[in-house]
Amino acid sequence: MRRDLLLDRIRGCLIGGAVGDALGWPVEFRSESEIFNQYRPNGIRAYDLNAQGVAEITDDTQMALFTANGLLCAETANRRDGRAKPPRGHVAAAYQDWLYTQEADFGPDAAIRPSGVSWLNDVEGLRHRRAPGVTCLKALRLQNAAPGNTEDYVKARLNESKGCGGIMRVAPMGLMDWPDIRALDYEGAQLAAITHGHSLGYMPAAVLVHIIHRIVYPRQPEAALKEIVVEARDTVSEIFACDPFLSELRRVIDLAIDLAEHSPDGDPDNIHRLGEGWVAEETLGISLYCALKYRRDFSAGVIASVNHRGDSDSTGAITGNILGALLGYEAIEPRWTERLELRDVIMEMADDLYACQRAAESGGLETPDWTRKYARGRRKE
Ligand SMILES: [Mg+2]
Repeated sequence: MRRDLLLDRIRGCLIGGAVGDALGWPVEFRSESEIFNQYRPNGIRAYDLNAQGVAEITDDTQMALFTANGLLCAETANRRDGRAKPPRGHVAAAYQDWLYTQEADFGPDAAIRPSGVSWLNDVEGLRHRRAPGVTCLKALRLQNAAPGNTEDYVKARLNESKGCGGIMRVAPMGLMDWPDIRALDYEGAQLAAITHGHSLGYMPAAVLVHIIHRIVYPRQPEAALKEIVVEARDTVSEIFACDPFLSELRRVIDLAIDLAEHSPDGDPDNIHRLGEGWVAEETLGISLYCALKYRRDFSAGVIASVNHRGDSDSTGAITGNILGALLGYEAIEPRWTERLELRDVIMEMADDLYACQRAAESGGLETPDWTRKYARGRRKE
């Protein structure tokens, strides 16, 4: 049977991101001398499993799953109501459910009230704190205290943060089969801006969703990754043409392309030139460098993306999103998937994203199971 390329790419994007996240997590806050001393001689190249033999995922993957959950709720509501409302409100509601999973106490007296739109709330394995980003927690707590205060997060500028907590979770937006890629890019920025108000916090997210989308829904069958990156850079430059930080975003993207093509230096040195990845434009730059350089080798790309002194799980997650989408799930070695925490949940979400894109052909989203998952506690609008 001919494998379905779209399904393979969607699975590859979500699982690939989780693989990079899980590989990078044990070294997220470690210096390079610590990393290369502990994992001799070439750094971490295989999972450092927990006591239960599991490769743990972190907030990057958790929040990407909630992004997907929110997107599917929005798509389901739109199709049933015959509307085309942007999904940011549903995704912001899903992030409230993620925030709830980060509470130490899940009882009736918990300080955070979940919105209850996400079936992921039922997944016990998501109730772990894995160094969640402070900006995300703070922004979402504010929204929990005062819900429904905005529908335009880019304009609202909630704060001045350009941390990578916005970009690290938006890849599922790129998997949506929207006809207008500029609208898709802008929505990617909106999803990041739910928690990150600096334009360098949300413009890189728009670049990432553009790249993921063009990989998964190619205009020409054999478009090179570099061409897609350049197109993403230029489209996002048009969308945010007046932004004072656009030149910095373009500089990082161009440097990543140049280093991937021409630099004779080793990966850690090249990554240092791009930054450490704690802020979104650097996370994007490091991930683009690794994905472009290792565009035919998923394992080599994610390994390069985590062996540095910066935010290894986030650079690993985004590199994994891109390479997983590009090469497909079937190209990811079993050693990365066998011990991956919540692999079945991630696969289920990928398959639901796929079913949603194919719903027009397969007869819609009307099954009781779909309604239970994506039309629960429908938001009043
Ligand atoms: Mg993390």
